[in-house]
Amino acid sequence: MDSTELDKRHVWHPFTQMRGWNAGTPLVIVEADGAVLRDAEGREYLDGNSSIWTNLHGHRRPEIDAAIRGQLGRVAHTSFLGLTNDVAPQFAFELLRAFTQDDAPEGWRVFYSDDGSTAVEAGLKMIHQARQQRGEGERRKFVSLGAGYHGDTVGAMSVGHSALFHGTYRGLMFGSREVMSPACYRCPFNRAVPERGTDARLSRKCEWECVGEVAKALDDLGDAASAFVMEPRVQGAAGMTMHAHGYLARVAALCRERGVWLMLDEVMTGFGRTGAMFACQHEGVMPDVLALGKGITGGYLPLAATVASAEIFEAFDGEHSEWRTFFHGHSYSGNQLGCAAALASLRLLETVHPMAHVRARGEKLCALAQRFWEHPNVGDVRCEGMICAIEIVEDFATRRCFSAEQRVGFRVSEAARAHGLITRCVGDVLVLMPPYCVSEQQLAQAVDAQWRALAEVVPE
Ligand SMILES: *Cc1c(COP(=O)(O)O)cnc(C)c1O
Repeated sequence: MDSTELDKRHVWHPFTQMRGWNAGTPLVIVEADGAVLRDAEGREYLDGNSSIWTNLHGHRRPEIDAAIRGQLGRVAHTSFLGLTNDVAPQFAFELLRAFTQDDAPEGWRVFYSDDGSTAVEAGLKMIHQARQQRGEGERRKFVSLGAGYHGDTVGAMSVGHSALFHGTYRGLMFGSREVMSPACYRCPFNRAVPERGTDARLSRKCEWECVGEVAKALDDLGDAASAFVMEPRVQGAAGMTMHAHGYLARVAALCRERGVWLMLDEVMTGFGRTGAMFACQHEGVMPDVLALGKGITGGYLPLAATVASAEIFEAFDGEHSEWRTFFHGHSYSGNQLGCAAALASLRLLETVHPMAHVRARGEKLCALAQRFWEHPNVGDVRCEGMICAIEIVEDFATRRCFSAEQRVGFRVSEAARAHGLITRCVGDVLVLMPPYCVSEQQLAQAVDAQWRALAEVVPE
């Protein structure tokens, strides 16, 4: 039986209604090279969303391939419980150097897990336990940004705000205080319609009201507030919604003033995606906890990390008999293959794809994407680093969206395949975020394919 038949019989795909899936013809990817994916029929596609936001340097990158092969020649995986290895500590050091921008980072710690969700989960538990062990057990409440997405495990869902993804599981969740996201014109404080052709961020006036909402929430909770959790600058699953420069720094200051910790989820934005190594570096913000995943291995292997400040780590210090241990761990913690790939990827971010390169390619993509403004149903074209989002609306003037049943974004993304582009929308937001190795010609190809697909599904 071929793999398509076996897939339809035995596999359950993530975020997928399997009835519709089984009625269709799935695309079977068999190989890839750089920014190009190849299917079982030999057709080629641009990897327009970096394989769901994970890939940085392209597929079959020789340096990462060699690092994994080299590690495979020694050992693939041994336990990180009661043992260490010769790769994971090295990556922890290099990661902290990149994050703290200090050649000898002191005090910070890296906790390893496997996915973005587990990195967030570990961060939440660390914070909760640290509060108790510091004698601040009353600080138990998390505050988080509206429309935020932090993964699908129960803790990560608890600080997320997606009615569709999480609504069903509300009964399992511990809940967190939601504050208004300042993202784009959806913000109810901002009733002004942006001028056509301009990035909606420029015509917004709601940022400072939104900062006020954060202050209000933190003051309401007072000594019950433990940590503020957010995706800095770009909220991915919310629809690549982008915050104005300065919002993050203001929120960080509000937290600092009130003794509330800041946990940043850079699972999507980390490792250069926004044109800085970490999005928080755009605003000189140091969080207390940082969650990383997706691009950490260059998009090769499931590895994730939770970075903790010295202050948080110190709360766990004690004698064995005091039971201040962080009772959390995963079988594949510190996995050598993943850490070897991560080290190679980090090196590529310094040499082949430094931030100046990512920013330049991203600007090129953004310039090409301005063409979408010609379409009357495009409500916004927004960019940050190598992320470009094109939002489709039913009516520009009133900001009315198409009904969800019409699945416009989904149909546009599907139609793009026939033009050689694979990407995945978020609702009615089209997403172009290729690997950093993408050529200018491939960028033009991607924009062209997305444009044609849009014109087919939503005629002008
Ligand atoms: C994808 C994502 C996660 C979850 O990561 P998984 O690896 O899918 O568990 C968490 N936070 C953000 C911001 C993400 O984009």
